[in-house]
Amino acid sequence: MLHSRRGAADLNDVHPSTDTVAAVTGSPGGPFFGAPTSAELDELENHQGHDIDVILARATRAAEAAERIGDTVLGHRARLVQADMLQREGDAGQAARTFLAIHRWAKEHDVRPLLARSHFHLALTYHYLGDHSASLEHALSSVEMLEDAAPAGLRIIYLVRLANSLAESGSVEAARERYRQAERLAVDIGDPTRQLMILNNLAYTELEAGEADEAAAIMHRMYAVARVLGRPFLVVERDTIANIQISLGRFAEAEETLQAVYDAPRWFEVHDFADAALTLALAQRRLGALDRAQASLDKCRALCDDQALAGVRVRAMAEQAELYAARDDHREAFEEYKRFHAASEELRSMQQEARARTRQAMFETAEARRDAERYREQARRDPLTGLYNRRHVDERLPQAIAHALQSGEPLTVALVDLDHFKNINDTLSHDVGDRVLVAVADLLASHLDQTLGDGLAARLGGEEFLVVLPGVGADAASRLDALRRAVAAYPWADVTGALPVTVSIGAATTGAADGDTQGALLAEADRRMYVAKRAGRNRVVVA
Ligand code: GH3
Ligand code: MG
Ligand code: MG
Repeated sequence: MLHSRRGAADLNDVHPSTDTVAAVTGSPGGPFFGAPTSAELDELENHQGHDIDVILARATRAAEAAERIGDTVLGHRARLVQADMLQREGDAGQAARTFLAIHRWAKEHDVRPLLARSHFHLALTYHYLGDHSASLEHALSSVEMLEDAAPAGLRIIYLVRLANSLAESGSVEAARERYRQAERLAVDIGDPTRQLMILNNLAYTELEAGEADEAAAIMHRMYAVARVLGRPFLVVERDTIANIQISLGRFAEAEETLQAVYDAPRWFEVHDFADAALTLALAQRRLGALDRAQASLDKCRALCDDQALAGVRVRAMAEQAELYAARDDHREAFEEYKRFHAASEELRSMQQEARARTRQAMFETAEARRDAERYREQARRDPLTGLYNRRHVDERLPQAIAHALQSGEPLTVALVDLDHFKNINDTLSHDVGDRVLVAVADLLASHLDQTLGDGLAARLGGEEFLVVLPGVGADAASRLDALRRAVAAYPWADVTGALPVTVSIGAATTGAADGDTQGALLAEADRRMYVAKRAGRNRVVVA
């Protein structure tokens, strides 16, 4: 039985020539003594090394340096690399939390390169969580969001993740197309290391789709690329090739392919040896070499115990049952099969628990983010009326003005002040005064909603409101007069009895010699508002 080992051959787990490892890990202490640059982050993201600790240390230094100089985007990119390394070391919860938090930040601030990267890491995270559709969605977005200027190596990694996600979701033809794109890129930039990684992933996809002949054709191309590369196959690649040979019934060749594995073991491949030993045992059993098969299986199980490889260990039990059966020892085969069944149930529930813990960690963050968002939103709102407050205006109005000046579209700011409001408070009560403020606020908000969607109403304090009208210039007077009439026409009798409620409005517009800064526009609007007061109140002054 073929098990999905694409995980092991996945993405950045690409298999470098020893030279590449040296290039990445060979800088003692690494760069980032000063502030990191985007190019340095490109290189970190694009790394092909296997030395997790070295990359983790470099990413941590880069994140700290970026934060010191206040470069949030670079800091987040470094944190993503850092979390990526943590995920490989098994801290899935912490990593997932980081990916999600940075993803939300990138979305909120609309920072595309960061969105692409966080989508990619979430695609991997959901892949580990067994959520294929969420993984696919993020993988699609990661490729979509990647900028044209992004390094080709990065695009290749994202395309392979997308292809793997497509294959896992059953869209094999769409997956093939992405592998092809990735391979064309690898050929274009002359990167046979990545080309071999792509072919290895594609070969597994063909095998799992039951396309043994297709897989065999790709295997031949793997040989050709390995010759160009001038290095022996890695363990994962040999394992792929051996599985293809087994599927073609060429068991002796499969045995030969895998026996070479033990000649030159590489430190970063330790986890792959147990898998290879299991495939070897399978090939030898099918060949009828039952003693050699048992020896390989014993080796596999020893490696599993050594490295606590629960998944391979369970599959080794299934192979052991097959091996007993091949020896016609059906009683032992049955006993071993029962042990296999129990162990695989246990593994499944362990995996479920681990996935639940990761999900919990992600969810907690999402909750926490929503809370923080709520508090922040509260801090920008006036508690009495629910309108935005002065803080929000100070944060947003300069941007809106700058945008208006750039686009050449006018923007009008208007100060709306209640007339003789003190009188309402004094004659009726402060409570009635409050109800009037709330009613006026609602009128402003709904009037804005109805007349133009992206306007802004805020309470600056007391009985003074601000209305911002983007796109409104020449027609400001008529627009604002409609607003004034709406206030006057409100059925106030229910609230204030015989006392009328009216407003005086002063406004200023960009590009009309009223000034082009928030301060100048507001001062001019304020001046005109007092002109309106002096002229008798309940009126609009725009120039
Ligand atoms: P004018 O038409 O010239 O603007 O006269 P006015 O009475 O509206 O202006 P003035 O500035 O003299 O008085 C504003 C009043 O608004 C004084 C203050 O007690 C009242 N006020 C400020 N904030 C609130 C509030 O939150 N609730 C209530 N009920 N009254 C408030
Ligand atoms: Mg007033
Ligand atoms: Mg006032």
